[in-house]
Amino acid sequence: MNSTTAVKDPVCGMDVESAIAAGRTEHKGQTYYFCGSKCKEKFDLSPERYLDKSAATSRGSHGCCS
Ligand SMILES: [Zn+2]
Repeated sequence: MNSTTAVKDPVCGMDVESAIAAGRTEHKGQTYYFCGSKCKEKFDLSPERYLDKSAATSRGSHGCCS
């Protein structure tokens, strides 16, 4: 109950539980989890692309309260 963490697949935006994630990769000291190997492959090809995108959607839309 307390051993799983819900994280976001940075490629497709799906919620994934870290304990059952189909793929994971480390990038700049952080671990990212994926719903499937396809998403992991895409992320490995161009991680910045997906990180920029998720940063923009999660923070960029809240310019009022940074
Ligand atoms: Zn995915």
